[in-house]
Amino acid sequence: MSVNYFMQILKNHNLKPYTSFGVDAYASQFITVTTLSELKSALQISAPQRLILGGGSNLLFCDDFDGLVIRICLTGITVNEAAEDAVYLHVAAGENWHEFVQWTLAQGYDGLENLALIPGVVGAAPVQNIGAYGVELKDVCDYVDVLDIDTLMVRRYTPADCQFGYRDSIFKGELKDSAVITAVGIKLHKPWIAKINYGPLASLGDKTSALAIFKQVCLTRQQKLPDPNKLGNAGSFFKNPIINKTQFNAIAVLHPNILHYPAGGDIKLAAGWLIDQCALKGYQQGGAQVHTEQALVIVNTGTATAADIVALAKHIQTTVQTRFGVELQHEVRFMGRDGETSLAEVCRG
Ligand SMILES: Cc1cc2nc3c(=O)[nH]c(=O)nc-3n(C[C@H](O)[C@H](O)[C@H](O)COP(=O)(O)OP(=O)(O)OC[C@H]3O[C@@H](n4cnc5c(N)ncnc54)[C@H](O)[C@@H]3O)c2cc1C
Repeated sequence: MSVNYFMQILKNHNLKPYTSFGVDAYASQFITVTTLSELKSALQISAPQRLILGGGSNLLFCDDFDGLVIRICLTGITVNEAAEDAVYLHVAAGENWHEFVQWTLAQGYDGLENLALIPGVVGAAPVQNIGAYGVELKDVCDYVDVLDIDTLMVRRYTPADCQFGYRDSIFKGELKDSAVITAVGIKLHKPWIAKINYGPLASLGDKTSALAIFKQVCLTRQQKLPDPNKLGNAGSFFKNPIINKTQFNAIAVLHPNILHYPAGGDIKLAAGWLIDQCALKGYQQGGAQVHTEQALVIVNTGTATAADIVALAKHIQTTVQTRFGVELQHEVRFMGRDGETSLAEVCRG
């Protein structure tokens, strides 16, 4: 297969408009693909490394990127209503996730309402198994279509193949640099069952509708989370730590009121609560700030550099570790000059 020379490769391209943190970082090469054939061509362009970019809402570029950024803009949705038990949707990877959720509800396909207003595109949703208000992508995922970067063949992954976990999947592990998600199959079960166990949804009651849940989720999120279009951020910066019962019991002796939830046989702590207990809301490092309302979110007040965000993240991690003995892991993916990196690596220098 030959390279499609009509696709425009942009050189030394600023990534700021493509990421929700809105910090300056340049990619040595940048290309937008709108079809599978363009994607295959782009994957043959010679580059030291590649990065697949969706909506850029879960990424922090800690440095300029010495490689090819491929922005996925594949679109299209097909519907199969033939089955009795579910509606099946095949959704291209570049479709905007929230617009897709809105579209399903407008068609009368209920089931995605709890996942409203999550930024980004459909192709990124399986990567960290997006979740909110008691529902995760894995609960509605029928399959994931994946292009193998070496063979340029598309293979269909079942949910079991995807190894979904809490903010985790095979696409963050084994397949990290070798696969591009091209489409996601969604299965919306019939009859629809409301999922209202979580927080502010409980007050809606059993007779609620998917649209009412959608509106409540949007309202709550708008009240709780800063809008990245107004205040740069990448949502929850850290994951909620999951620890075993022995570790938990040791912490609970010193902090008997610690907020926690059962997580299988383990215990999940609330990262936002831990940060809040350290009185870090509003704490600022250069142009980066712990959001004044939601401690789990780091915001760009307008002038933040990646270094400011990294320094603030390190300060939060160290402060929580010192007070509670728990090491927070970042949910946001860190990109360095030569590919993915981490808070620990960036701080080592
Ligand atoms: C205000 C705000 C609120 C948020 N709330 C939530 C929430 O409630 N729940 C939640 O789970 N997340 C949340 N997030 C995080 C983020 O929106 C999700 O992780 C989202 O799925 C990222 O999508 P994206 O298109 O922006 O991905 P990007 O940031 O572009 O990419 C994220 C990762 O996925 C990889 N990737 C992207 N597309 C593909 C593809 N087609 N194939 C292979 N790899 C790919 C990238 O290489 C990168 O490593 C929030 C973020 C913000 C800013």
